[in-house]
Amino acid sequence: MQKKLLPLSSFLFLFLLSACSTSPALPVITETPIPSKTSSLITATPILSTETPTETPIPVPTEIPLEYAQYTLYATLDYAGKTVHVEESILYPNKSEETLNDLLLAVEPNFWASGFILHELSVNGVATNYTLEGQRMTIPLTVPLTPNQNIEIKMHYTLNLPFAEQGDPSVTRARIYGYTNRQVNLTNWYPFVVPRKNGLWQLPEPWHFGEHLLYDAADYEVNFKATDPNVVIAASANAEPNTEWTRYTLKQGRAFVLSASPEFRIYSQQVGDVTVNSYYYPIFEIPAQEVLNVSVRALQLYSQLYGAYPHKSLTAVQGDFNDGMEYSAFYFQSHGFYNTYDGTAQNYLTFVSAHETAHQWFFESVANDQANEPWLDEMLCTYSERIYYENYHPEALNWWWQARMFDYSPNTWLDQRVSENPSERAYWSSTYFHGAHFLEELRTRIGDEAFFAFLKDYRAQNAGKITTGEDFFRVLREHTDIDFSDIVINYFRTAR
Ligand SMILES: [Zn+2]
Repeated sequence: MQKKLLPLSSFLFLFLLSACSTSPALPVITETPIPSKTSSLITATPILSTETPTETPIPVPTEIPLEYAQYTLYATLDYAGKTVHVEESILYPNKSEETLNDLLLAVEPNFWASGFILHELSVNGVATNYTLEGQRMTIPLTVPLTPNQNIEIKMHYTLNLPFAEQGDPSVTRARIYGYTNRQVNLTNWYPFVVPRKNGLWQLPEPWHFGEHLLYDAADYEVNFKATDPNVVIAASANAEPNTEWTRYTLKQGRAFVLSASPEFRIYSQQVGDVTVNSYYYPIFEIPAQEVLNVSVRALQLYSQLYGAYPHKSLTAVQGDFNDGMEYSAFYFQSHGFYNTYDGTAQNYLTFVSAHETAHQWFFESVANDQANEPWLDEMLCTYSERIYYENYHPEALNWWWQARMFDYSPNTWLDQRVSENPSERAYWSSTYFHGAHFLEELRTRIGDEAFFAFLKDYRAQNAGKITTGEDFFRVLREHTDIDFSDIVINYFRTAR
């Protein structure tokens, strides 16, 4: 198990500059040991029911092929007990052109010992076998799933939330999933069917930094309640009552999250039909207002430049940890940035809020392979910070280049996998900072008109999809005849 060791002087910058740099926790040392590769076989092909699986499953519940998978969840949080009880239904359409003999689901809570306790699992109403090893749940299909056919997976499980150990930041990364002394965060908390491409399920293993999951767009109905009525809930969608539940509906989302705390306070602002929220802790009113203001202004600006915002709400939450991270219609903002905010625009709080808001276009609407092509979304979101400053704080633009690109090393390749970087610092440099410089050179070469027409069209052509570097350059070349091959050669090791 590798630990990240940084000199103390690096730590300050690490936590100040960090943005979207961690995700579902990679196995690092905690009080609750995470299963190692050799011990991660939590359940070896258990049968979950005494019923014998039959060869004739109940017919598929919908006649019309779905465009997107439908996730319906009923989840009850025991805030004090740090558990979540979940009933989940997945209506999954086979949108590939092949017949599927199995399904692969990502089960991130299973990275923790006893973190995921499955009580029941059925496919089209019939109890089924499965294997669960680390994050990988494989469900063999007794009846193969043909193209454009739907299948229904139902499961009932308990999450035992891990303590989100923050530890020494020079050794361990910020943790998000689980609980802290004043927050419960449900991120990548439900099993989901991973995307399929070229005949393979797409579920990379996590690395020591960066993100690793790919998400198909899916429709969500999440019904949620907390046993403690004093708990305030932030979520990936607007709340509405549904009997004793609170219901959240998200269309074509990637990753539905919730954050809960009895101490949360909220600022909200309406932008057209979008409700923007800033959840924060008492005494952080001023930075929380800045998070709201930046989110609102960035949402307005990016809607003009990249096309309409994809959801009806955008919620920023003060994390009880030092990291920013994007999810569907939702982002966590690093606690450290609230502490260091000085009331001006020349702040990490400001540019990271602009960055995380941009992820709603690049990550959420247009997704990508975060493990193997992380530059696609991180480059565009880092450059979106630049666009935010040039529009709202042009006097601070030079400051932004200097402060944001701290420790930037141009001797790297933009098109690296996360795992090719020797450190998180190097990952930011090669992916975020190198990417921003690439886009700056590209924009200067092809001109603003072509550059922004390209960005808007790249989003339009790829909304709801998982894009690739090939898509990026194909759309780019549809918008300019100017030769930019010398720039590409300087930044990309692969011919583009
Ligand atoms: Zn990011």
